[in-house]
Amino acid sequence: VFNEQFQIRASIGVSTFPDDATDPDQVLKNADIALNRAKEEGRDTIKEYSEDFDRAVQQRFQMLRDLRDAMEREQLQLFYQPQLDLNTGKIIGAEALLRWWKPDNSKEGGSFISPGEFIPVAEQSGLIVPIGEWVMETACKSAKAWQDKHGQKIRIAVNVSAAQFSQSDIVSHTQKVLTETGLEPQCLELEVTESVFMDDIQHTIQTLQNLHAIGVELAIDDFGTGYSSLSYLRQFPIDRLKIDQSFIRNALNNPDDASIAKTIIGLGHSLNLKVIAEGVETIDHETFLLEHKCDEVQGFRYSRPVPFDDFVKFATTYDGKLS
Ligand code: C2E
Ligand code: MG
Ligand code: MG
Repeated sequence: VFNEQFQIRASIGVSTFPDDATDPDQVLKNADIALNRAKEEGRDTIKEYSEDFDRAVQQRFQMLRDLRDAMEREQLQLFYQPQLDLNTGKIIGAEALLRWWKPDNSKEGGSFISPGEFIPVAEQSGLIVPIGEWVMETACKSAKAWQDKHGQKIRIAVNVSAAQFSQSDIVSHTQKVLTETGLEPQCLELEVTESVFMDDIQHTIQTLQNLHAIGVELAIDDFGTGYSSLSYLRQFPIDRLKIDQSFIRNALNNPDDASIAKTIIGLGHSLNLKVIAEGVETIDHETFLLEHKCDEVQGFRYSRPVPFDDFVKFATTYDGKLS
């Protein structure tokens, strides 16, 4: 198509009569459930219907109802994880990460549900749009409050889902949040994953360019795990690549992962981008990244994601020494 090569992949859901259902509508419905499962499991695959799928669908509906309630009851919170300059050891910013505090009858009175569990449900239902807007507002407010109090220009990184690109006007919302909070645009970074590039590429490029024109920074999260086309990468107004944590975790015992991490650093630098590594847990990870001239780091070695007050405590007491 227009001298570009496209790959076409098919996903198939199978349901059999009379084992899975006897009513024709139900057979088709089950096939649809199986098809959805096939798509979720990475597409390009065939799935046969199983009753477990039905249960999973019910659970997802339940989670969606709970998540809507949680929003209304203000049970969503943001945690913050510091990002540091690897050469100076200085804190340059923080990534805002969603947490869902779900009350229950346990001794603790509730538990945190990980975003890995509820973000996909929020994305499928479109609920990610209002949630994402709340995240951006809250994160920008925190960053501004911190700057006013401490006079330090930290940057706040916010995760943005592909659905927010396709289902909302993220550009005007971002502009509105910056105006309302008074945060300087270069103090906000939006993290997108390579999946945004798979939807409508022209729309994505245009949206990223509009966001960049406002002055916000853009990062590609989990870089190396998706399907970015290198020729497209040049066209995106990106400031930063975030090496996926799986490569960092395995860099020391798997030469392939080490090579990928090194390659991403080299690629980023050759395109004039900053490179940040996430999932930095040990001094050995840090040494590896220093050796290969990675610019910035984020990980449990420095701090876990913590509530805002704890982040402030960390940032005001951290002595900047990495080792
Ligand atoms: P992510 O954006 O790649 O965030 C990094 C994840 O790695 C976070 O998990 C963080 O807690 C974890 N992490 C950081 N340092 C280390 C480390 O040293 N070791 C290990 N093992 N893990 C580390 P978390 O908070 O569970 O978030 C998971 C994912 O959920 C995020 O991955 C992001 O894709 C998504 N997410 C979180 N908050 C939001 C949000 O507000 N909006 C959207 N759309 N997605 C979000
Ligand atoms: Mg992220
Ligand atoms: Mg990541």
